[in-house]
Amino acid sequence: WAKAQGRGCIRSYTSEMNAQVVERLTMEQSLRQAWERQEFVLHYQPIMDLQTGNMVAVEALLRWQHPRLGVVPPAKFIPLAEELGIMPTVGEWVLRTACLQSRRWQDAGLPMLTMSVNLSTQQFIQVDLTDRVAHILDETGLPPSCLAIEITESQIMQDVESAVASLRAFKEMKVHLSIDDFGTGYSSLIHLKRFPLNRLKIGKDFIHDFTKTPEDETIVLAVISLAHSLGLKVVAEGVETEEQLRFLWENGCEEMQGHYFSPPLPASEMEGLLQENRQLPLRLAYQQCH
Ligand code: C2E
Ligand code: MG
Ligand code: MG
Ligand code: MG
Repeated sequence: WAKAQGRGCIRSYTSEMNAQVVERLTMEQSLRQAWERQEFVLHYQPIMDLQTGNMVAVEALLRWQHPRLGVVPPAKFIPLAEELGIMPTVGEWVLRTACLQSRRWQDAGLPMLTMSVNLSTQQFIQVDLTDRVAHILDETGLPPSCLAIEITESQIMQDVESAVASLRAFKEMKVHLSIDDFGTGYSSLIHLKRFPLNRLKIGKDFIHDFTKTPEDETIVLAVISLAHSLGLKVVAEGVETEEQLRFLWENGCEEMQGHYFSPPLPASEMEGLLQENRQLPLRLAYQQCH
């Protein structure tokens, strides 16, 4: 009887074992296979200079081309990939692929842009990270000053001393450094001063809401002023409207990235934009000053 009841319990637990658990296990398995099956691809999103309207950089963004689910966005699989310990390998592939792509565009005579690459937390804490990056630059022939590394405040704060050491080594190599999603993490201004950074990227959550939320507008202005006082450029992420663009332009933000100009694109489509040398329409901004 007890046995039967026990079994009943197991059965009901099993049947209630919700879709989430099954989905996770399935995801885990297919994520492990994704690497062998070469299902990862990079998309590229232009970063625009607000003074000239020119493209100045391209951010490489990882996509998982799942055979059944289609394109899986990074938020859905990077945390799991980190847990499974495969991010350093995938991240190294991202770096190599992005550098190689950038080198090919340069060789084809297209405008020379900075290639901006996100590092995962596990990648960032590798002790030989800077050697690995140097090796990839060497291998692909991309000039170090054409590469920018993006890391978040929380990645830096995990171990400030070794972060400072890595960032300084990058700086010596002439690789550019950006803080990603600035304002969403926790960082100490005292530390910020010690990092040899080039850019602060304002997280898209602030940009999305600042035209509606006065607090977000205040934050955006504060970040711009903080960045400038540290001698850094500001990139606004997730710019979708002319209103946002205009506000940023008027307040001295140097660069923007967002659907207003272009979403992340497959390499071939990005190449099209580069060939056209497409520019940001700054009509409104100019009307203001002339
Ligand atoms: P992120 O580095 O802050 O990248 C910017 C994100 O904003 C991208 O999301 C991009 O598609 C999105 N975005 C750009 N413009 C707009 C806009 O106008 N509106 C909206 N709603 N979104 C916009 P995505 O590609 O989904 O990537 C999410 C995050 O995943 C990235 O945020 C980054 O933290 C991480 N990630 C992406 N690729 C990689 C990678 O190769 N390695 C690592 N470690 N992380 C990556
Ligand atoms: Mg980024
Ligand atoms: Mg990020
Ligand atoms: Mg960001």
